[in-house]
Amino acid sequence: MFDRELVFKALDGSLFVISPNVANILFSYRQIGTSSPESAGVLIGERRDTHIILKDLSEPSKFDIRSRFMVDRISKHHQKTVDEAFKKSNGELHYLGEWHTHPEDVPNPSITDYTSWHKNLKSDLPLVLIIVGRTHFWVGKKIKNNLEVLKQI
Ligand SMILES: [Zn+2]
Repeated sequence: MFDRELVFKALDGSLFVISPNVANILFSYRQIGTSSPESAGVLIGERRDTHIILKDLSEPSKFDIRSRFMVDRISKHHQKTVDEAFKKSNGELHYLGEWHTHPEDVPNPSITDYTSWHKNLKSDLPLVLIIVGRTHFWVGKKIKNNLEVLKQI
């Protein structure tokens, strides 16, 4: 369990902060069991100057196709979660990127991950990507076509 925020730093000095409640929800989807499926969702939070604060997320729904090694985010409920957070927060909470789980302790992006991020994530603003492993998070920041791995501080 996390009782404090997780802070990551990019090379340009900007911070990416994961609030404890979001870190705990992400961790609850770890693929611990031999048959636990891969989970995925979208990341929601605030942008303050160049800093990004992760405050909310969408969780898998029964409409997602889930298997152990792939997950297809077909469900509209992820977009709905973003829209509702935006409305409830008077426009302070935005879509920030995506998360999914991997059945490995210290996760790394797969070729499929890179391909799909490159193809599907288009934004002029930086996006963040999280892979939830069994013991560690992998955190990346996508700026246009550049992907930087963020270091926890
Ligand atoms: Zn992956």
